Amino acid sequence: MAVIGASDTEGRPNTLITSRLRAWAEARDATFVPVNPNRESLGGLPCAPTVAAARKAVGRRGLDLAVILTGDVEGALAEVIAARVRFAVAFGAGFAEVGEEGRAAQDRLAAMLAEGHTHLLGPNTNLNAFEEFDTSLPEPAIALISQSGHQGRPIFQAQELGVSMRYWAPTGNEVDLEFADFVKWFSDRPEVGCVAAYIEGFKDGRTLQLAADHALAAGTPITMVKVGRTEAGASMAGSHTGKLTGSDAVTDAVFRQFGVQRFDGLDELLDASQMLCRAPAPHRPDPGVAVYAISGGTGAHMSDLLSAAGLRLPTLSAATQDTLHEWIPPYLRVSNPIDNGGHPVGDERGRKILDVLVADPDVDVLVAPITGAFPPMSDRLAADLVAVAETSPIPVCVIWGSPVGDEAAYRETLLSSSKVVVFRTFGNCVAAIRAWRDWHALRDTYRSPFADPKLVPTRRSRGAAAARAALATAAQATAAPAAAGLASARTSLSEHQSKEVLRAYRIPTTAEHLVGSARDAAAAAASLGYPVVMKACGAGLAHKSELGLVEVGVGSPRAARAAYRRLVEDAPVEPEGVLVSEMASGGLEVVVGASHDPIFGPTVMVGLGGVFVEVLGDVTFRVPPFGRDEAKRMLTELRGAAMLSGVRGAPAADTSALVDVIMRVQRLMVDLGDEIAEVDINPVLVRPKGRGAVALDALVVPR
Ligand code: ADP
Ligand code: MG
Repeated sequence: MAVIGASDTEGRPNTLITSRLRAWAEARDATFVPVNPNRESLGGLPCAPTVAAARKAVGRRGLDLAVILTGDVEGALAEVIAARVRFAVAFGAGFAEVGEEGRAAQDRLAAMLAEGHTHLLGPNTNLNAFEEFDTSLPEPAIALISQSGHQGRPIFQAQELGVSMRYWAPTGNEVDLEFADFVKWFSDRPEVGCVAAYIEGFKDGRTLQLAADHALAAGTPITMVKVGRTEAGASMAGSHTGKLTGSDAVTDAVFRQFGVQRFDGLDELLDASQMLCRAPAPHRPDPGVAVYAISGGTGAHMSDLLSAAGLRLPTLSAATQDTLHEWIPPYLRVSNPIDNGGHPVGDERGRKILDVLVADPDVDVLVAPITGAFPPMSDRLAADLVAVAETSPIPVCVIWGSPVGDEAAYRETLLSSSKVVVFRTFGNCVAAIRAWRDWHALRDTYRSPFADPKLVPTRRSRGAAAARAALATAAQATAAPAAAGLASARTSLSEHQSKEVLRAYRIPTTAEHLVGSARDAAAAAASLGYPVVMKACGAGLAHKSELGLVEVGVGSPRAARAAYRRLVEDAPVEPEGVLVSEMASGGLEVVVGASHDPIFGPTVMVGLGGVFVEVLGDVTFRVPPFGRDEAKRMLTELRGAAMLSGVRGAPAADTSALVDVIMRVQRLMVDLGDEIAEVDINPVLVRPKGRGAVALDALVVPR
């Protein structure tokens, strides 16, 4: 290991860093070579003037690692690459995080690395990469990835609470090695129980998806605090690590897709990571939670929070309740929550109750909130809980709510166990149990979309040629709307052309004719059958109804001719023609769309649509590749999901047909995302089960 810019001048920051690095190297039996042209020797070791000289000094083994402490990262990295060092770490800052010039410098680093075979951690990383861990704490351990040193501290310090940790990757500006690389490596380590991350921005959406997919398949959960939920957070993150921050709703969707558990606070992140490391897998996808408390109030409060979070509290069987009443007075409720009234925890009954609870087949996790210390009873309770947790087939969660926190029951008893999961707040316990449930439920049914050739096709589908033809025709007809000042919609295809693109991908649309005269309008209407819908149709004509360009329920030849004339006259630009469509009815209006996310690329959206889509904002996203199961899961995420199952006597909607539309839009974007900026199908009319779904309107915007 070579350290470039090593120093022993008293008081210099690099001197402290040099000795830390030397200790780290020596603990690993590595040869430590300081590099500094102004020194013969340093700290008693011979000092090499250049990286090449350091390389020579270690002989044929070569250098595994070079740590760059100097400000001139570019110059040092050039030497490191030339000396064929496998890995480099660069602490220096002043790159993409400070603006244009810095970004250019960072791009130069990337170009240099692309040429050689060195991998770089940084620049703008720090000493956290060289921390020593408390290896006496039992595994599985947390591996931490952080894009800010200080934000990783609370996780690191949790070792003092008995939480095991083994790795810390402060990824800095990620010019080469990035979050995803570390996720993959950590998730394959048997000693790692959970990868926890504090992230400000992802370098690449695809590598994130692949790494999360890999971790899920390897059975290693990822927990994460990802800033950028709001505009303010996103802009701060941008200046901090110099990365783009994508739309947060899309990030959330990708997390759901791959089981990444997201939290708001570092305390929640830590507690949930601990839970995922320690707790055995639940026996069923919707685990039963039992709440055991010494006070009816505590039990009720905790149960309320768990239920509100969507967790299930099973009613214990009559047999179990009878057994519990052998030790708990008959007037106390033991159905779940279990209220013991206090006294039984003070003697041998306490342990007996716990044994019955953890052995009950309906109980998959035991939660024991201890709101405040009440020695000596709470000492005995804590000791019994630890003893039970040691052999229990289910996780035992204890919340020690006492605000003091230096009581023996907490410090010495609870924290010294590596089996019991200890929390300080009700809220964090609920969040951790939910993450545990959600992660395992996904993991048990997970099928990698990357393994499905239909979802990651190597060739475009057959419809692609026809869709491209429609896009090409449209490209010729974009001048007119621009002239009329419809700048925002300038490049969109007409509804008719947009529907051509959809039809090429077998997305059903209304039967319709594009006509150029009043007479033809009436003829088209007659062939479709009255009533019909008529719309002005042209490139750039979006939001037609706002411009009065949609006429529904046209019922006669006379009305059709009149509608034709009016629509042509009212159109802000000369339309391509008037679209005469069959009038569809009976169903739910849904929106299906696609666009490009700056981080994740093509993204598919579904929402409850029609005219209220903007007001309600009830939409959800997925990033390709995703399978039909995920498309179905999208529908359950909508707030108005119940509308699809049929409410107030309405029949259930044909969700399978809607899923077809979503999957076909996905395929369209996978094939032609380079050529299509946006797709908006609003509405798709989803008819009752078995009767299909049909696009009533469509807008395709070329890229
Ligand atoms: P806009 O450009 O304003 O979105 P649309 O083509 O979506 O125009 O038409 C507006 C509304 O008219 C639709 O949301 C739908 O409720 C109704 N509509 C449009 N086409 C049809 C059709 N073929 N059958 C029944 N209703 C339709
Ligand atoms: Mg519409």
